[in-house]
Amino acid sequence: MTIDETSIPTDRDRVEDAVRRARHAARWWGGLSHDDRKDWLLEFKSVVARNSASLVDVVREETGKPADDALLEVMLAVEHLTWAAKNARRVLRERSVLPGLVSANQAASVRYEPMGVVGVIGPWNYPVYTPMGSIAYSMAAGNAVVFKPSELTPRTGAWLADTWDSLSAPHPVLQTVVGDGAVGAHLARAGVDKVAFTGSTATAKKVMATCAESLTPIVVEGGGKDALIVDEGADLDAAAEFAAFGAMGNAGQTCAGVERVYVVDALADRFVDKLVARVTNLRVGDAADAQYGRMTLPRQVDVVRSQVEDALARGGRAVVGGPESVRPPYVDPVVLLDVPEDSEAQVEETFGPTVVVNRVRDLDEAIDRANTSKYGLGASVFTGSDAAGRRAADRLRVGVVSINSVLGFAAIGALPFGGVGDSGFGRIHGADGLREFSRVKSVTRQRFSAPLNLVTMTRKRRDVAVARFLLTKIHGRRRR
Ligand code: NDP
Repeated sequence: MTIDETSIPTDRDRVEDAVRRARHAARWWGGLSHDDRKDWLLEFKSVVARNSASLVDVVREETGKPADDALLEVMLAVEHLTWAAKNARRVLRERSVLPGLVSANQAASVRYEPMGVVGVIGPWNYPVYTPMGSIAYSMAAGNAVVFKPSELTPRTGAWLADTWDSLSAPHPVLQTVVGDGAVGAHLARAGVDKVAFTGSTATAKKVMATCAESLTPIVVEGGGKDALIVDEGADLDAAAEFAAFGAMGNAGQTCAGVERVYVVDALADRFVDKLVARVTNLRVGDAADAQYGRMTLPRQVDVVRSQVEDALARGGRAVVGGPESVRPPYVDPVVLLDVPEDSEAQVEETFGPTVVVNRVRDLDEAIDRANTSKYGLGASVFTGSDAAGRRAADRLRVGVVSINSVLGFAAIGALPFGGVGDSGFGRIHGADGLREFSRVKSVTRQRFSAPLNLVTMTRKRRDVAVARFLLTKIHGRRRR
């Protein structure tokens, strides 16, 4: 028997087919009221919550993270799904705006309409929470979604779409297409109305170039090199505890995890002692009581090893672990001190359970050093002074700042999330996240003829004279 190869669907066919089906689904979904969509999405989240044990199993198998971490991730995703569902009507309702004196004859309003189909491309490190930041907010804004999970976590992605299907929704508003990066590229080229990309900065640039071919808009949640600052008056136990979690949790594979610590000189020794005590005996492995698991992406261990070796070769000191901590597929905790700011470990994303602690003179120096990174995702500040916390939040060049905690924003649906610089642009979560996946339409309705009619081919000289008078009288006044 000969096989007609032209009848076997290619990856591209599969993606285009999914987008076609999504386009059809989007007509139904986008035509529902916000309240109807809210009901569907709240039902969706309750099925996810009820069946979380099976989702946790899939995430654990695919990523190697402990079940408790997978559960936490699912909980966070459900929080966001709930917030998006409950707030879409309030955030996206049509609202009137003041037309201003010159256009007083117009009624003016702003609408937020669904875009249509959003292509979500996700990473493997938080395969539920991270894409759900785009999926939930896209769907709540009235869009259908085609989701391309990482090739390392395809079953997690399929679980989400299967669960949507299990609601007996009449249309596939959420679909998953699995495969490697080429499938992501097909999705970006398939005529979707927006791409929501979460992943490394290097891949973001490729996806953006693909989107540029068709002027498809994109939101980029890229990598990070987040700093944690320990200022005078900080609660050192809390700072060390959060630093340990931010740096080592999920084996350091957290976009907004802690990779750099800047601690004021006077507190440095005590802080380092407390941090060392907390990370020295962490349980690493696959056992049920492990505190973190294997590196999910096998080749990442080489990045970690190379950064640790470079840091040590350039004068850094290891107070916990060292190159020997890298024992694939695991990496034991590594704490490095006094690492030059231009070393790989301080410049490039590590994405492993290592952290660099450097001393600084004061808060201002800490902020200046934190801001030298090309990334700008998040930062944390531990301080005893509210004013210092506010000053740091003002000056840090990042998208999210946590004061006296790390990752404080993660479960707050109302807070937009995203970065600056190499960490990306655009926002997921919160009202901005809902608007990110909406098309803004401005509408005016002329209520009566303008007393001063300048939009006519037969302008009156008197109208132009009045306009000139108003221009100088209203806008031309000296301000000081
Ligand atoms: P990658 O950049 O390697 O991949 C991200 C996604 O893009 C994957 O689904 C990948 O598919 C896909 N992809 C790869 N090549 C292309 C292409 N040419 N066109 C379209 N899609 C493509 O990131 P990782 O999966 O390794 O995730 C880790 C990174 O994600 C880290 O840098 C981390 O900081 C970042 N991240 C950022 C977050 C944020 O919110 N800012 C949150 C979580 C992670 P495949 O895997 O199949 O190759």
